[in-house]
Amino acid sequence: MPHATQLYQDFPATCWPIVYSNDYNITFIGLEKLHPFDSGKWGKVINFLKEDKLITNDTIVTAKEATEEDLLVVHTRGYLNKLKWSFVVATITEIPPLVLLPNFLVQRRVLKPLRTQTGGTIMAGKLAIDRGWAINVGGGFHHCSGDKGGGFCAYADITLAIKFLFERVEGITKATIIDLDAHQGNGHERDFIDDKRVYIMDVYNRHIYPGDTMAKKAIKRKIELDWGTEDKEYLEKVETHVKGALNEVTPDVIVYNAGTDILDGDPLGGLSISPQGIIKRDEIVFSIARSRSIPILMVTSGGYQKRTARIIADSILNLHNLGLIDSASAETREPRI
Ligand SMILES: [Zn+2]
Repeated sequence: MPHATQLYQDFPATCWPIVYSNDYNITFIGLEKLHPFDSGKWGKVINFLKEDKLITNDTIVTAKEATEEDLLVVHTRGYLNKLKWSFVVATITEIPPLVLLPNFLVQRRVLKPLRTQTGGTIMAGKLAIDRGWAINVGGGFHHCSGDKGGGFCAYADITLAIKFLFERVEGITKATIIDLDAHQGNGHERDFIDDKRVYIMDVYNRHIYPGDTMAKKAIKRKIELDWGTEDKEYLEKVETHVKGALNEVTPDVIVYNAGTDILDGDPLGGLSISPQGIIKRDEIVFSIARSRSIPILMVTSGGYQKRTARIIADSILNLHNLGLIDSASAETREPRI
């Protein structure tokens, strides 16, 4: 019997399955100078979508923080206890000065935002099944597994979302992860390495973090890229292999890890994809998933340049303009549970 959770609820049909909370944003003085990332990217995406009149505060779904019980669906208690040490969190998030902060501040300023984003991914999992699609404006912590964090990822939100679906939604027995962040998604790969219910496709720069050879064994469709890969080659590979992956196995749900650190100029990703290339990539993935009527959950994952938020918002607007996402599908689609 699964535990009682606040993360699986029904929302009014007037809500878009776009999940967000102001608590996503990591705000404390000077952080942006300490880490090569825009720690308010998630709020900026939402503001752009509001400015462009796609959504209002009343038409999005507010994410709730994942509780310890929710996290224990995947994480070991030992791992969660380790996060009570600031130096462990400093290592996982790659923000060394956190070592100097008392853990209650680390919890409040860093881990609570990450737990709320994790709750958002789990919520978006159910919404994707109910509505056909869902976007968590945060999440995508694909370097974290049940017993180990790293690369800014403290909670295994992708694994959690899939395990919640398997445990709680009848008829959901197969999932496909399409991981298009610039880095290898070793967290969910380690979690699902022996799980035949999960098919993993991963497209990443072969030369960068994490280079996790053991986790690579979990990848069913591995596309390794070289430094500076550009739009044409990238988009051709994405289209061919997303189709190929879904031809091999038709899943009950797709989890799409839509990292934007593939963007040209990203200090970590090492690829050269244009903003238009990112928008086209998301379009390719959504149009293939929607044309086959496979529910899709998108998370935004890595990519923290100043211009990243605008690109994510433009991509969501493009999906809407093309009719690949809309709120009406909420009312017309039969719930599967
Ligand atoms: Zn990444």
